[in-house]
Amino acid sequence: MTTVEWDATDDVNAMLERVRGHASDRKLLLFACGCCRLAESTVPVASYLADRFERDSNRPLSRDEKTSMFSLVASAVMGDLHPIISRVLSGCENDSWSLANNVASLLRRFSLPEREEPVNSEPNRQAPPPVRSAGQAEILREIVINPGRSLDFSGWRTETTIGIARGIEAEAAWDRMPILADALQDAGCENSDILDHCRASSSSHRPGCWVLDAVLDRP
Ligand SMILES: [Zn+2]
Repeated sequence: MTTVEWDATDDVNAMLERVRGHASDRKLLLFACGCCRLAESTVPVASYLADRFERDSNRPLSRDEKTSMFSLVASAVMGDLHPIISRVLSGCENDSWSLANNVASLLRRFSLPEREEPVNSEPNRQAPPPVRSAGQAEILREIVINPGRSLDFSGWRTETTIGIARGIEAEAAWDRMPILADALQDAGCENSDILDHCRASSSSHRPGCWVLDAVLDRP
């Protein structure tokens, strides 16, 4: 997948393959949480999972915690099929990439922004999951930097930019991202990918935002 394709695609499977082995466990977990957020109005447990695992995203999760996240999503989505699916996937839950891939895949047809059928229609739980999801793709682009671009933030990590980034994260004050853009510019950053990202709609940012994490020097 090229740099340009990454920016435009809604093929979440291909995007995940592109970052396999590169995205950190933390980024993959936060992507799984973002997929839960997209599905929270149709999969009630998704909201609980996103709250819980976003809160714990700065520490490594145990195997049991990963298994618990996968099991809750699988049982909510697959119902009676869950034991079969669990057996097939047993062993995958300890690997963060597989966890993110499985959670995204299970929740894809419950992600409202790209659903075409009316909200009150019941998705077919036994049909193969769709590959594409504009909503999930946007979340992955928000959390993981375009893998074709490599940016060195070390010269822009000043006391001011780090302080602003910490404040945004602590208070989920995403409306302050344009202020971070101004501070980055003051520190000498003229990269349009970074500045445009900061100045995009505040609703597009979420825990794991790649610019915020880069300023805070987080993988
Ligand atoms: Zn962001």
